[in-house]
Amino acid sequence: MTKPVIITVAITGAVPKKADSPAVPVRPAEQIESTHEAFEVGASLVHIHVRNPDESSSSDPALFAEVQAGVRKHCPGMIVQFSTGGRGRNQDERASSLVHRPDMASLATGSVNFATQIYENTPQLIDGMATTMRDLGIKPEIEIFDLAMLYNTKALVDRGLIKPPAHVQFVLGIPNALPARRQVLEFMLRELAEIMPGATWTAAGIGRYQLEVNRWCLELGGHVRTGLEDNLRFDKTRLAKSNAELVTRVTDICGEYNRRPATPVEARQILGLAPAA
Ligand code: ZN
Repeated sequence: MTKPVIITVAITGAVPKKADSPAVPVRPAEQIESTHEAFEVGASLVHIHVRNPDESSSSDPALFAEVQAGVRKHCPGMIVQFSTGGRGRNQDERASSLVHRPDMASLATGSVNFATQIYENTPQLIDGMATTMRDLGIKPEIEIFDLAMLYNTKALVDRGLIKPPAHVQFVLGIPNALPARRQVLEFMLRELAEIMPGATWTAAGIGRYQLEVNRWCLELGGHVRTGLEDNLRFDKTRLAKSNAELVTRVTDICGEYNRRPATPVEARQILGLAPAA
């Protein structure tokens, strides 16, 4: 029997538009349209960043609410996940969108160097965001940018700040953080199974590693993330035309690994989320 795979589409990154390809959706209407296209070809979870009109990364709760409302209207049952990432964002503002109660939100359980900056997540910030998510019934997607974050997650579960089973995402291929090496992923998966049995997982390969990491996840029984936030290219010869094109690149290979895209209903069951309202 084929095993369903949750395909996450990360539609819009945190970097300014001038560093992007024209395919990256920026305005809420563009983001809703791009998400809908990805949903139609098999994505069941959308990871959302929003931007100000000057195209810098934003924490504006109103923008998050607008995109969420559009996705809920046009993509029935699709899981909505807000980014609480901090690149260029005020620490105090990072949890401000959570009042809109998305199904999920990202939560990094430690600090890490990126290519040119530190992604700072103090213990106090992590505790605060985990508590807010728990109290609002928002499931965190734990972003594992470095090994210690895996064990920090276990400690948060043990302290009751994260409700088990946890859902973790391994982020591979960011300069100065975890490399996109299969044996590194396999080591972390063994550790995950030992310290948090029952946890679900996915992985994101950044830039040129995206498709290779997609394949590892399909083969190793995990879930998959793709999208223009992580990678702008379809292949060596050209840029991707859309988020939907990158999702299709995944759905086209699912059969090679005896997998198929999860429906939104299945995705919610796998992650222990409530059925869509
Ligand atoms: Zn993100």
